[in-house]
Amino acid sequence: MDIRSCLALLDLVRLSEQADRSFATACRRHAKAITARRAAESALADSDSEEGKVRAGLVSRLEAARRRQREDSLKAQRAFLAARAAGKRLSRAYAPYAAGSAPGANRAALCRELFAGRLLELIGQADVLPVQSSGGKDSLAMLHRVVTWARAAGCLHKVVVVHADLGESSEWPGVRELVARQAERYGVRFIAVEAEGGLYRLVEKRGKFPDSKNRLCTSQLKRDRLAPVITLLVQELGLSRQAVVVNFMGIRAEESAARRRKPELALDTRLGNGNRLVVTAHPILDMSETEVWQTIAQNGLEYHPAYDAGLPRLSCILCVLAGREWLIRAARLCLTLGLTHPQRYADLEARIGHTFQKKLSVAEIWAEAQRRGPLEDWERGDAIRRHLGEEAAAQYLRRLELAA
Ligand code: SF4
Repeated sequence: MDIRSCLALLDLVRLSEQADRSFATACRRHAKAITARRAAESALADSDSEEGKVRAGLVSRLEAARRRQREDSLKAQRAFLAARAAGKRLSRAYAPYAAGSAPGANRAALCRELFAGRLLELIGQADVLPVQSSGGKDSLAMLHRVVTWARAAGCLHKVVVVHADLGESSEWPGVRELVARQAERYGVRFIAVEAEGGLYRLVEKRGKFPDSKNRLCTSQLKRDRLAPVITLLVQELGLSRQAVVVNFMGIRAEESAARRRKPELALDTRLGNGNRLVVTAHPILDMSETEVWQTIAQNGLEYHPAYDAGLPRLSCILCVLAGREWLIRAARLCLTLGLTHPQRYADLEARIGHTFQKKLSVAEIWAEAQRRGPLEDWERGDAIRRHLGEEAAAQYLRRLELAA
């Protein structure tokens, strides 16, 4: 199958999935309307009020509930027909390529089949190639890989580095500027989106810290910021056809079981619409941590000094998912840099009456960091030294100097 037919089929998968989702939403609404109608019926039946006004109120509530149920039932029927039609359209379009399977029944399998071995072809066909970068080591290795591929395909101009800036209240100093320099080094565009107030404001508003089960911070501060950027990038293209967007994310399989299950390419049916077909690509899924550092070292790429200070990730200064020792080290680095984040978060904990993690408070982390004192035992290149050895670090520092 040629790539254009493949893209056309992927768009039919998108339409089918979106139609199914609309049907599911319509069914949920209808179920709620039934519950509301039943409640209105019971209220009327149970009412022993003789007062005309009260009875009239209950009757009118029941009529409104019945009306809503009828409307929602019609909407669910229409959504069902639309979902069925979208599924049939997809099946018909796929039939010439199919070996007897029914794609409507397993769109995930169809996507796997359509995407298999197509990443480089997709890069060539894409209209825009956003690269989501936190500025961390994985984002950096990913950017290098994407830029290498895009350059080989003559598509470097389509690459845009997108950074969700969580702000000074959450992140280490200099992250945004670092991402801008990383983009500049490759001569690609850089866009920063603000997540006003970052983690601190989110917790303050919610009165609770997020956790691994409710990771609102990543969805609200990072993922949700992406949609307006994609809209802007597609609008700028001014195309009279549907744009193809390949959106790159730097996750790695060895980081977690959930990430191991991620495919290299996936159709994003939430971000996609009639104006844009959005494909999410995970181009460094196969990379080990050592390979990430090798990419950085061998190419003299600039990374954030927080890694040299022994932090494993360039996350929020106080990441809700981090372990105790990591957090204490981060707080000790704050002492070195004169940052007041741990104190501010400890005050926030006291104010909202909710601790940072179930069994660990920032107040404890901060107290322990103060007991151990500021971090002083690190220098530039230590992260490479730790992962790849002394010689690799020396070569890296020379390359970095040459690239400056
Ligand atoms: S770095 Fe940690 S705290 Fe910050 S947004 Fe990500 S998961 Fe949440």
